[in-house]
Amino acid sequence: TRIQQVESKVRAFLTLDEENARQAAAKLEEQFASSNERGPLFGLPIGIKDNMVTEGLKTTCASKILSNFTPIYDATVVSKLKDAQTVTIGKLNMDEFAMGGSNENSAFHPSHNPWNTDYVPGGSSGGSAAAVAAGEVYFALGSDTGGSIRQPAAYCGIVGLKPTYGLVSRYGLVAFASSLDQIGPLTKNVEDSAYLLQAIAGYDPKDSTSAKVDIPDYLSALTGDIKGLRIGVPKEYMGNGIDPAVKEKVLEALKVFEGLGAVWEEVTLPHSEYAVATYYLLASSEASSNLARFDGVRYGVRSDNTRNLLDLYHMSRSEGFGPEVKRRIMLGTYALSSGYYDAYYLKAQQVRTLIKQDFDQVFEKFDIIIGPTAPTPAFKIGEQSSDPLTMYLNDIMTIPVSLAGIPAISVPCGFVNELPVGLQVIGKALDEATLLRVAHAFE
Ligand code: GLN
Repeated sequence: TRIQQVESKVRAFLTLDEENARQAAAKLEEQFASSNERGPLFGLPIGIKDNMVTEGLKTTCASKILSNFTPIYDATVVSKLKDAQTVTIGKLNMDEFAMGGSNENSAFHPSHNPWNTDYVPGGSSGGSAAAVAAGEVYFALGSDTGGSIRQPAAYCGIVGLKPTYGLVSRYGLVAFASSLDQIGPLTKNVEDSAYLLQAIAGYDPKDSTSAKVDIPDYLSALTGDIKGLRIGVPKEYMGNGIDPAVKEKVLEALKVFEGLGAVWEEVTLPHSEYAVATYYLLASSEASSNLARFDGVRYGVRSDNTRNLLDLYHMSRSEGFGPEVKRRIMLGTYALSSGYYDAYYLKAQQVRTLIKQDFDQVFEKFDIIIGPTAPTPAFKIGEQSSDPLTMYLNDIMTIPVSLAGIPAISVPCGFVNELPVGLQVIGKALDEATLLRVAHAFE
């Protein structure tokens, strides 16, 4: 199979479940014997990022602390995909607890970029992006807290969609930063993205942040017609810090949009420069709270030979979490501690509102915002892993969107040094239909 051919080089999987997948496929074949019972996704093999729980299938979040954890239920998205007649063939690599942008924070092994295996596939949904790009699965699910679907999609030359916060149920997604986390599709093209979103979107009473909205028909939005579309291009995304070759690709893409009858203008998102700091404070604060449940008692690995209960907590967490996770727990605990709460956490919440208002203002006059997904193409494995701050700056164009809770899609827009570049199309809240229409027209 394709997986046997390439997996030793790409290393996208943490758990591969080929035998069970074959059985599930055979069952589907029987159950939906006549073709008119078969939906559009019938029999398609899908990979799931390893932070979504799968009944009977190991779910590790790429962390040692969950290396022995086999869930007893399916995440809502996983059961929805079963209802949509897809076949789950395995769990995909990621940065530990989705903290990172290169897959190098996986406690087990890094994944590799299929375009050049010396390079990272991006992260944290790097295994998902690599598996799709390498043709190991037909499509995959990822999660995006600050860019983790869009950035790996860009680095691997595929399509990655982060839906509006609340559109897709997070029930069964291991929480990183609950006010930001969102699940979405990684696919080879925009049409597949629309199909997959259709299958997973919708209200779920099991997720208190799930939006009670009607789900439109995303496929019928793909008309190819974007005449008169008004595009805003944030000057903050096209200035300092962006690789000039990437900027060139975005400008070429804007020419394509002009050719399709759209118009574009430079706009400003004035609080963009605070987004990275705001995000790392808020996301780490939420993570420090969410990850408190991993105590060696309720889930996963328990340290041996501990002297008392406190020691058990302490040792299990010290041994179970990797360095980046510990860094975030410490930062988050600090930001939430009394005496610092007002100066850091509360301040960050206020700045978050300003960042959201930047987008609201642009969307008063424009239908869509376009810019790069990431400031550079993929980097080499090992190149940035010793410097967390450099790593954090890769998220500079994806994080503002996450803080605002709005949807964005990354579509391929050419190559720089034989590595793919992603174009980010950002839309209004719950307007995935326009987002998909625009991305599809461009593709
Ligand atoms: N790279 C960002 C981080 O490390 C984004 C992660 C994500 O979206 N899960 O937090």
